[in-house]
Amino acid sequence: MVKKEQSKVYNFCAGPAMLPASVMQKAQAEFLDWQGTGRSVMELSHRSKEYIALAEQAEQDFRDLLSIPSNYKVLFAQGGGRGQFSAVPMNLQGRGKCADFLLTGSWSNGAEQEAQKFLATNVVSDVVSKEGLTAVPDIDPSMMSANSAYFHYCTNETVDGIEIDDIPDSGDVPLVADMSSNILSKPIDVSKFGIIYAGAQKNIGPSGLAVVIVRDDLLDSAMPEVPTFLHYKTMDKFDSMYNTPPTYSWYLAGLVFKWLKEQGGLTAIAKKNAEKAALLYRCIDQTPFYINKVHPDFRSKMNVTFHLPSDELEAKFLVEAESRGLMALKGHRIVGGMRASIYNAMPIEGVITLTDFMRDFARRNG
Ligand SMILES: *Cc1c(COP(=O)(O)O)cnc(C)c1O
Repeated sequence: MVKKEQSKVYNFCAGPAMLPASVMQKAQAEFLDWQGTGRSVMELSHRSKEYIALAEQAEQDFRDLLSIPSNYKVLFAQGGGRGQFSAVPMNLQGRGKCADFLLTGSWSNGAEQEAQKFLATNVVSDVVSKEGLTAVPDIDPSMMSANSAYFHYCTNETVDGIEIDDIPDSGDVPLVADMSSNILSKPIDVSKFGIIYAGAQKNIGPSGLAVVIVRDDLLDSAMPEVPTFLHYKTMDKFDSMYNTPPTYSWYLAGLVFKWLKEQGGLTAIAKKNAEKAALLYRCIDQTPFYINKVHPDFRSKMNVTFHLPSDELEAKFLVEAESRGLMALKGHRIVGGMRASIYNAMPIEGVITLTDFMRDFARRNG
């Protein structure tokens, strides 16, 4: 347990992740009385003009941040990232009965397994070992299937700490990306994609919400059985309010988008993210006590994974880290080791405090 009087806590949780302190303070300040309405934003009708204005502003800010072209729709969906594991194949199955998948870790595998319920899946590639480290190979076009409905990959494998900066070339086949854990961490060229989706709880806001960017020619290719509330065309027609949307999560997402704009937008935040990641990887590389198993070209700037020499030392590391306010550093159970998630909201001071602790811990236990 963290003691109350402890001055500073840094939350490295992979998700739900920390949100910017100023966003939380603003939400707290207007929790009971949102903009003079005498009510919490949570208590307003999603059909009220006040709420609709909020929702539209959030979408506009999101569009501005990512420079989303006008032929793309932005949908605020329910069901998080995994909801889209189902929604994507159901919404694109009308284009073809097969889809291509790049498998790079636990989330892309999860997406591929769910898609198998709705169409045939073809694995274009898996990760490879390069100089003993995990790497993502270039796509071999001959591995892609003819008449594929879409090509799916995950831009940042949250569990494995693998990030793919280069956008794969899928030719005429719409590229679908799960960006749950690195959306808004840097500028991206949206026009290269057919669909981008992201569960909110890493870089956007509270869990349960997903933001989906869909090129408009892909709105209407669903299988007939698609549940209405997951149907992109219906969602778009009702401005993501076919059923009552998660209004409070949408509101918080809107505050995060505003905060990001105040930070100078995605170019500015990308620079900060690169600095934070460089500090942490430098600490790992300079301290043989810590091992990262990802090839430098694919090291995630959002989820930094590392191992210590033994399970005992890892357990000790976690206990000591928590006693210093460095929380939730335990790696995902399927890969073990440690994971420091350093999304947009993590201040550089948090990373500096962590690396100071890591060097000290290595000195005392190495
Ligand atoms: C967290 C995560 C998901 C799953 O999100 P849920 O909201 O729990 O369904 C999917 N993909 C990636 C890359 C993630 O990081």
